[in-house]
Amino acid sequence: MPVLSEVAYTPSNLRLLVDGRWVESRSTEYLPVMNPATDVQISRVPLALKEEIESAIVSSQSAFSKWKELPVSQRVQLLFRMKYVFEEHFEELARVNTQNHGKTIVESRGDVRRTIENVEAAIAAGYTLSKGEHIDLVSESIDEETVKEPLGVFAIICPFNFPIMVPFWFIPYAIVLGCTVVVKPSEVTPLPMTFVAELLQKEAKIPPGVLNIIHGSKEAVEALVSHSLVKGVTFVGSTSVGRYVYKLAGEYGKRAIVQAGAKNSILVMPDADLSDAVESCVSSFFGNAGQRCLAGANLMVADDVQRDLLQKFTRRSEAIKLGYGLDESIEMGPMVSKKAKERTIQYVEKGESEGAKLVLDGRQSRVTGYENGYFMGATVFDGVNPDMTIAKEEIFGPVASIIQVSNLDEAIEFINKGTDYGNAASIFTRNGGYAREFRRRVQAGNIGINVGVAAPAAYFPFGGMRESFLGVLHGQMDSVDFFTDRKVVIARWKP
Ligand code: NAD
Repeated sequence: MPVLSEVAYTPSNLRLLVDGRWVESRSTEYLPVMNPATDVQISRVPLALKEEIESAIVSSQSAFSKWKELPVSQRVQLLFRMKYVFEEHFEELARVNTQNHGKTIVESRGDVRRTIENVEAAIAAGYTLSKGEHIDLVSESIDEETVKEPLGVFAIICPFNFPIMVPFWFIPYAIVLGCTVVVKPSEVTPLPMTFVAELLQKEAKIPPGVLNIIHGSKEAVEALVSHSLVKGVTFVGSTSVGRYVYKLAGEYGKRAIVQAGAKNSILVMPDADLSDAVESCVSSFFGNAGQRCLAGANLMVADDVQRDLLQKFTRRSEAIKLGYGLDESIEMGPMVSKKAKERTIQYVEKGESEGAKLVLDGRQSRVTGYENGYFMGATVFDGVNPDMTIAKEEIFGPVASIIQVSNLDEAIEFINKGTDYGNAASIFTRNGGYAREFRRRVQAGNIGINVGVAAPAAYFPFGGMRESFLGVLHGQMDSVDFFTDRKVVIARWKP
């Protein structure tokens, strides 16, 4: 077995970052934080008390009153320092990410790189997108202008699957625009963001209260969203919880961005370059062990290429090397938790009972030396009918459902009506006309053309339609308007 260099970051209890200080929670409720490849407990995460969450919010509010008064050129300097901390500790961060999440080291490096890209994009946003508009002479001696002002404290609620990148879809934009944030990482993968915050606090010199970290689950989210000092919330996670958070935000009059669940389809047309399509599909369906909101879930194949594609896709999927993600040769790590694996297995059983044909079964996959890890091999169903549960519901595991379609229209009809989600959809084709039809008619926020994972760069807003997104403004570059409010100033000056 290769020697793997783990980063020795295993604090017995994770602490809360409140007003520039790391404090031990007084909670009596803690959850174990696991390394999913080894099933070894690497830390414990507290479910913070309501009064501790209150202190974090009050600290962020007090920091806001000073932070918003700094010129943008000074706030931007903090983002430059953040970028250097990320670059300096790049490899350690990627390793800690793998140690708690399970994804391969290559995938973790991708997460950290995309995190840095968001910090860079936010620098640009701070300098350019926060500017207002001015119209001279709206009426005699009257000019009008809009000014954007930072709103205040924001709650950033995160899912388990991108423990570093997702928080940074929002943190740098909020901060550069003059807001302050209270971040709640996922209780399943809280270690990487805590590690990041320790580094940033030490080395990037974040003023106390501009970035606070609290830990917890449902009650913590409720305490954040309902608090009068919290002006808005960003949520990334499942649709059922997202709906609840959106409703709660509405009840308390908060603005909200809710990026939710997914069930993405990939369509391979008969004219596609099959070898490219197969490689891209394997990485889309099984990268991150299928736990990506942009992952392929349904593989739609036109009749003519069905047999050939099925054979190539299944053969390549079967050969995926499973193991501890710190080993550079590994192609797929474990699932994030025992619970996530059990849930995926239940879906496989459901697929079998509803009559789909299991052509590759990853349920019994084991990894020598890591027998207790939460590994699940690539799993492929053929003959999936659009009415089956596995074609409609989000599984969020390494399971591909192959659905045969006879033409483009039938595929688009299924994508738009067969599932409630609209996060991403891809087409593989050499025909520009097919690609154009697909782009125009498919109701999904991220469209891939000969691309298996349709992930937008940081300087595009992250899309999402139907049950995959709730709100008006999207994240990343759109979030400039989210974190600020507009004032219109009508001024009369006579010569
Ligand atoms: P989740 O909904 O279980 O949890 C998300 C967050 O909500 C966590 O911080 C959790 O502590 C909190 N939470 C859990 N239950 C809650 C409740 N009842 N009330 C209030 N808060 C609660 O999601 P997850 O399992 O961590 O992440 C996977 C999901 O996230 C998948 O559905 C995936 O598609 C989605 N996701 C979407 C995007 C996107 O951009 N659309 C990106 C990443 C992940």
